[in-house]
Amino acid sequence: MTGARLLMLAAVTLAATASGGAPRVLAVDGVRLQVESSGGDFNAGAAAIDAWLRRSAAIVAAYYGTFPVPAVRIELRVEPGAGVQGGSTYADPDALIRVRVGREVTAAQLESDWVMVHEMTHLALPDVGPAHAWLSEGLATYVEGIARVHAGNRSEQDVWAEELRQMPRGLPQAGDAGLDRTHTWGRTYWGGAMFCLMADVDIRRRTHNARGLEDAVRAIARASGGLKAAWPIERVLRTGDAAVGTMSLEDLYARMKDSAWTPDLPALWRDLGVESDGDSVRLNDAAPLAPVRHAIMAPSAETPRS
Ligand SMILES: [Zn+2]
Repeated sequence: MTGARLLMLAAVTLAATASGGAPRVLAVDGVRLQVESSGGDFNAGAAAIDAWLRRSAAIVAAYYGTFPVPAVRIELRVEPGAGVQGGSTYADPDALIRVRVGREVTAAQLESDWVMVHEMTHLALPDVGPAHAWLSEGLATYVEGIARVHAGNRSEQDVWAEELRQMPRGLPQAGDAGLDRTHTWGRTYWGGAMFCLMADVDIRRRTHNARGLEDAVRAIARASGGLKAAWPIERVLRTGDAAVGTMSLEDLYARMKDSAWTPDLPALWRDLGVESDGDSVRLNDAAPLAPVRHAIMAPSAETPRS
């Protein structure tokens, strides 16, 4: 795997050189982004691309208190068409994010992009192995929406509406054997995101909103150094729980890792005060867990050190 990756890397680097796209370095919020693009120029211009990268890095840095790694190489592959088309993140041994972007990507598409925030979020979690991809993909899926709300880049309604619509895809289907053993797209992305939402709610309930999932994942990122570390999932969850003083992550994992346990999502939305309203949602502040919902979407400054 590593050898093949290195060969691919060499090919991309050569392509970048051949197209004349000189690597450039952006410094933002304590992280050094080394940016290379291959396959030509973007119609939107380099300034729009740089603003997108800076904004995405600032969103992730704000959620984690600091950007998860001091430096990351970003390889942009110019593709036909528009939009931000997909990406992947590596850390062997240095942080590397590869994203395919359409030549005709617009400033508006870059402004509302989720892909770069998702990929940068991957840098904060240790490598937990393929059996636990649901944790890395679920966390990136969950954090992307909330971190963008914190930064004013996405509306709270939009994120809750997406969760209300998509999270049922993370529920166990017939034959499910738990998150560690059921590697479908729905269980990996939305089953993992569901785990994160339930953990966030549980931490906030138990701590009377003094702590949340972001305090747990900040501690995990700080203790591990992020994706370049390979940690057993038990150590990741134990580290997160210890930082917030609950057993939320470990208890949920014990329940969901090897069984088709089905959480009562309609009851969760009702308690949080998230009510379906056509394509959007109505947020009900009379709901019992409305203060938890507010706390999830409110940016927190510093993780208090104890
Ligand atoms: Zn991902």
